[in-house]
Amino acid sequence: MHITSIRAFTLRAELKRPFSFSQWTFSRRETTLVSVETSAGIQGWGEAYGPSRPIAAAVTDFFTPLLCGRDPLDTEALWHLLYARSIDYGQKGTLLAAISALDIAFWDIKARFAGLPLYRLLGGAETEALPCYATGFYFTEGEPLEHSFAREAETYVRQGFSAVKMKVGLGVERDAVLVGLVRGVIGKRVRLMIDANHAYDPVTATALGRRIEQHDIHWFEEPVSPLDVDGYLEVKRRIAIPLAGGECEYTRFGFEPLLRRRAVDYAQPDLCACGGVSEGMKIATLASLYNVHVTPHVWGSSIGQAAALHFYAARPRQPFTLTPEERLIECDQTENPLRTGIVRNPIILEHGRWRLPQTPGLGVEVSEEALQRFLSFP
Ligand code: MG
Repeated sequence: MHITSIRAFTLRAELKRPFSFSQWTFSRRETTLVSVETSAGIQGWGEAYGPSRPIAAAVTDFFTPLLCGRDPLDTEALWHLLYARSIDYGQKGTLLAAISALDIAFWDIKARFAGLPLYRLLGGAETEALPCYATGFYFTEGEPLEHSFAREAETYVRQGFSAVKMKVGLGVERDAVLVGLVRGVIGKRVRLMIDANHAYDPVTATALGRRIEQHDIHWFEEPVSPLDVDGYLEVKRRIAIPLAGGECEYTRFGFEPLLRRRAVDYAQPDLCACGGVSEGMKIATLASLYNVHVTPHVWGSSIGQAAALHFYAARPRQPFTLTPEERLIECDQTENPLRTGIVRNPIILEHGRWRLPQTPGLGVEVSEEALQRFLSFP
C-alpha cells in the first residue's frame, strides 16, 4: 500500500452568537481536515488545531511531496521523516499541527487496514465509554454572566456530566464570584475545573487560587503563560489546587520540562497539535515517569474528538489502584457547526460519557458532501 494523494480542507463556520475567553473573541469556528488516500483504496482522516490556511499550506505544499508513494502503515518512520525535514524551522506551531493531522490520518488508515478500532491498536481499553467533562462558561454579551453561567451549569448537570470546566480571567474578584455561583448551582458532587488560558501572572493566579480554594476545584488550567514553567511552580507551591496545562505545547521535547519539573499535575496534549497519535503516546509515557496525569485537550470536530478518545481510552490507569480517580476527557459544549456537521456518525454522548467507536479506524465517517458546505476556500 502506498499514499496516492493528500488533500487539506480548510473549513469555517460563522457563529450565531460570538463568545469570548480571556484572550480573544470567537465569531466563527475553523479547522483543517486532512484526507490521505492510498493505493489499497483505504482513506484516512486527520485534523489539525490552529489557523487553517497556513496549516493546509504546510500539508499540501511542504509535506505532501515527501509522502506520496510512501506506505502510511509506517507511522513511526513517517513521523520522524516529517519532523526531521521541518525541525530547522518547525518544532512547534503550524508545522507540528500539520504533522499531527497527517499522523492521525495514517493511524486511521492503519486501524482500518487491521479492521480494528484505533484504540485496540494503541493497547486496548478497559471500558466501553469514558466520562467527559463539559467545557463551557465562555463570556457572552447580551445578559449578565450570572444568568448564562447558571443556565449552563443547570444544563450540564441535567445532561449527566459529572464534571464541568469554566472560564476565568476577568479579574480575581469577578472570577471568584462566578466560581462560587457555578459551584452553588452544580452542587458538591460534580467536579469543577477552571481555565484562565494564561490570563494571569503568578501573583494574580495565586490570589485567585486562594480565593476559590474553598470551592473544591479539581484543577486550575493555564494559570500563567505556557512559557513560564517557574511561574507554574510558584503558583503550585502557594495554592492547594492541582494545576493543568499543555494545550499550547508540542512534542515530547516541549512537554519534558513541564513533566520533569512537575509544573503541572494534569498534562493536556492536543493530539491535533502536539504531534498526533504517535507523539501523544510518547508524551503520555513520559508523563507516567513523573506521575503526572494526562487528559487531552479537545477543541475540534468529530475527527479530533475521535483521535483523542481512542488515545485516551488506551491509556492505562495511573496510579495503579483498585479505585482510581475517574479519568475525564474534554467535551467542548460551545457552538461549533463543524463539530458534528461533517461526519455521518458523530461520537455518541450519553449521560456525560462518550461511547468508544467500535468500527475500524477512528470510527467516524466524513461526509465530503457535508464538507463542501463549510469550505472556506472552495
Ligand atoms: Mg484550556
